[in-house]
Amino acid sequence: MTRFNDWANFTPMTLNKKQLIEFEELLRENARKTESQLQKFEQNIDFGGDIDHFDEEADEAEEFANRLGLQKVLQEQLERTYKALEKIKKGNYGICEKCQGEISTKLLDIDPATNYCLKCKQLVS
Ligand SMILES: [Zn+2]
Repeated sequence: MTRFNDWANFTPMTLNKKQLIEFEELLRENARKTESQLQKFEQNIDFGGDIDHFDEEADEAEEFANRLGLQKVLQEQLERTYKALEKIKKGNYGICEKCQGEISTKLLDIDPATNYCLKCKQLVS
């Protein structure tokens, strides 16, 4: 019954209950994955102590820096995910923090923990 044009014009003010549940599950899953990745990092960093030659030292230092960078990214990702879960509880999930506009479900599908709509995301980054 629904033609494509009808669907495209259909822009609900808020996400429906079913979508919220789906995004909540996705966020919880992402949080679990990120948590276990971070745990692995913490375990691996303990083994990074042995240094043999200068070249290896440099490599290890670089690798260590890369790891720390990635760890930071993962931590930020986890914080954003927790924040998004908090928003679902509060009922303001899917609302842009900058313009208070609605974040499209297309963007939420790609990045369910996003704080901004596509327009504002391009402005801040
Ligand atoms: Zn916005």
